[in-house]
Amino acid sequence: MNQIEIQTLIADKPLVKKLIQLQPCSWFNPDTTTLAIGLPYVGLDQIDIKKASERLNRFAPYLALAFPETATTKGIIESQLVEITNMKQALEARYNVAIAGQLYLKKDSHLPISGSIKARGGIYEVLTYAEKLAIENGLLSEHDDYSKFYSDKFKQFFSQYRIAVGSTGNLGLSIGIMSAKLGFQVSVHMSADAREWKKKKLQDHGVNVIEYEQDYGVAVEQGRKAAESDPKCFFIDDENSTTLFLGYSVAGERTKQQFNELGIKVDKDHPLFVYLPCGVGGGPGGVAFGLKMAFGDNVHCIFAEPIHSPCMLLGVYTGLHDKISVQEIGIDNITAADGLAVGRPSGFVGRAMQRLLDGYYTLSDQDMYDLLVLLDKTENMQLEPSALAGMQGPVIVTNNSKYLERMQFTHQQLQNATHLVWATGGGMVPKEEMQKYLNLGKI
Ligand SMILES: *Cc1c(COP(=O)(O)O)cnc(C)c1O
Repeated sequence: MNQIEIQTLIADKPLVKKLIQLQPCSWFNPDTTTLAIGLPYVGLDQIDIKKASERLNRFAPYLALAFPETATTKGIIESQLVEITNMKQALEARYNVAIAGQLYLKKDSHLPISGSIKARGGIYEVLTYAEKLAIENGLLSEHDDYSKFYSDKFKQFFSQYRIAVGSTGNLGLSIGIMSAKLGFQVSVHMSADAREWKKKKLQDHGVNVIEYEQDYGVAVEQGRKAAESDPKCFFIDDENSTTLFLGYSVAGERTKQQFNELGIKVDKDHPLFVYLPCGVGGGPGGVAFGLKMAFGDNVHCIFAEPIHSPCMLLGVYTGLHDKISVQEIGIDNITAADGLAVGRPSGFVGRAMQRLLDGYYTLSDQDMYDLLVLLDKTENMQLEPSALAGMQGPVIVTNNSKYLERMQFTHQQLQNATHLVWATGGGMVPKEEMQKYLNLGKI
């Protein structure tokens, strides 16, 4: 975009100016709808989620064998839901606000295998592909015991196939580790911001890591190109994959079950607010879809992005979706938040989910570091910076009286509310790296 085009856009969409100035800001979409109205636009439904859930159940016996850390949950990859009352108090003090309701953390940061939310979608997509190949080649029927994947015969079979993906780090970790374990040849095209330790870990697992000096968009494009010329190579498309999206969506019903087990109500009188860090959108979009299908109109999903990479806010707010990138309006897309350094949002997720997402906000990297230290101090939990993006959410919602009034929440409903911060990564960060993060917080 040239200057004139940018000025025209700002005249119509004034918030763009704030984004360009890198001011933290929020936008609560006045055009959101009920689930009943918004669902047809998603193009996926409850049956799709059920199939994904069943596929994960079929693979559970294999996962329990291949990754012994999942044996205690019988091969089901799921994270804990924990209350963080000390952190809630610390947030109230830091931002000088009283947050009504309870504060919980969903610890995808500590999911087995890859220590991030990508252990949902990434692993699910690899398993889906492996199952398809095995069935097509007469090695498997859906009624078999999937432990048989844990064998030299299957590994040998998969070794003739290749998988490729572009990643800023965590998706590469999930897809790389899972694919290599099954026996695939796997290449991960890593953007410049990917951490050394993540590349090293992948190489240790026998993954071919290809490094780029550019950002995520370029790594994806190059990966896609390399795969196109190779008929035995399957390219996992983070930007548009409904399979990835469905892998994430299974989180909805499981989270509902966890709330039930904890005796926490979610209904009209007990609203649930969920804060999800957003990169390209597949992870938070898929989880939000699952949550909507599980809790209906009683769940309110809000996306969080770095001020340097507000791609989803920009795409949905302007209605341009993947037709606009943050770089085109002069934002550099440079952030320390792994997984969130994405300049162009998924067009699929934005178009599918925009009616079902209540709002979006941005925050600075320094805020993420500060919140990282605060969580470490108050709850002794260590996450990577991006996973803290959602932590400001309860404050932003509490302070947004316009949104709360439009939604007609009563005082009592807000008192009964649950705020759930989706912690998306950090469980595998090496100690020295974590110490570096902790040193950057100014608390
Ligand atoms: C990938 C990632 C996200 C966001 O997921 P998208 O699908 O890219 O939107 C958030 N946090 C962490 C730690 C991630 O790795």
